[in-house]
Amino acid sequence: MLTIDLRSDTVTKPTAKMREAMSKAEVGDDVYLEDPTVNYLEKRAAEIFEREAALFVPTGSMGNLICVKLHTQPGQEIIIESRGHILNYEVSSMSMVAGVMPRAIPTSNGLLEWSQIEAAIRPPIYYCSQTGLICLENTHNMAGGAVMSKAQTYEICLQARERKIPIHLDGARVFNAATVLGESVAELTRHFDSVMFCLSKGLGAPVGSMIVGSRTFIEQARILRKLLGGGMRQVGVLAAAGLIALEEMPSRLGEDHANAKLLATGLAEIDNIKIDPESVQSNILVFDISKTGQNTSQFSSKLKEKGVLANGINPTQMRMVTHYDVTKEDCQTALKVIKGLIVN
Ligand SMILES: *Cc1c(COP(=O)(O)O)cnc(C)c1O
Repeated sequence: MLTIDLRSDTVTKPTAKMREAMSKAEVGDDVYLEDPTVNYLEKRAAEIFEREAALFVPTGSMGNLICVKLHTQPGQEIIIESRGHILNYEVSSMSMVAGVMPRAIPTSNGLLEWSQIEAAIRPPIYYCSQTGLICLENTHNMAGGAVMSKAQTYEICLQARERKIPIHLDGARVFNAATVLGESVAELTRHFDSVMFCLSKGLGAPVGSMIVGSRTFIEQARILRKLLGGGMRQVGVLAAAGLIALEEMPSRLGEDHANAKLLATGLAEIDNIKIDPESVQSNILVFDISKTGQNTSQFSSKLKEKGVLANGINPTQMRMVTHYDVTKEDCQTALKVIKGLIVN
């Protein structure tokens, strides 16, 4: 039976070229810093982001946690948008492991403005908890892949620097953001103190994310990675796939964005589905089905019976994510399936 998996770009399977590179990868013990493929991946990531150093980590969640912990002291607050991944989908690692509390700011489009951040910075009064870090997310996952512009990003980073508050980017999909903006990832992320990005999402690697930053920051991050149980041995087999993800996959992300737009435009024409196709910039779309009289779990199971996989993010909103394992034709088929479900 046909399956069109629009649940996430995490479902991408390694390409034939990745599997081939994995089988041939030179490996060594990475805890001894002796895995040549990992070393090369870290060197290339640092070069591409124009930073001093980079670190391969098993997951984006671990990468974010390492950065949150390194930038903060227990008892501090981090400023984050309310729907941010670090706050909602990484267990409670910021509080359990780093000992910090979120200062969550709601926005309509997922994109924080400096004025909102500034208003959330705690005053320097001894009985107030203090702001230790600002976290941004670009693209913003739960806000439908919303993209923060370079100008807005720079303003926030430069203001944060002036206030001497470190700033971290959850850049799980920063290559998607850079593609939409026509910028390099180095240019877009230049003023962050640290950046995490995922090799395992739209870039298609089976496992792995990376942190980039200064040499001393990455040295500290390596210690914390080990502390968290993330010191890996002959992991060049994964880094080999990661290298292809990093070097070759960013240039095709525009296809995913075009497919997401196609889906959004088609969905907007279906009665009782609410989405503004203009708001869909990257590879994620969120649409409202409350007028269909179905909730998202009913809607998802009916879609699944027809071979289309997609999940709700709450009872009224569905999310779809395009990636290289779904073609334009698949998206057209998915639209037909959805139309059928709404009409019947
Ligand atoms: C996927 C994702 C992460 C990291 O997730 P892992 O599954 O731990 O790799 C972090 N931030 C955002 C915005 C994400 O979408």
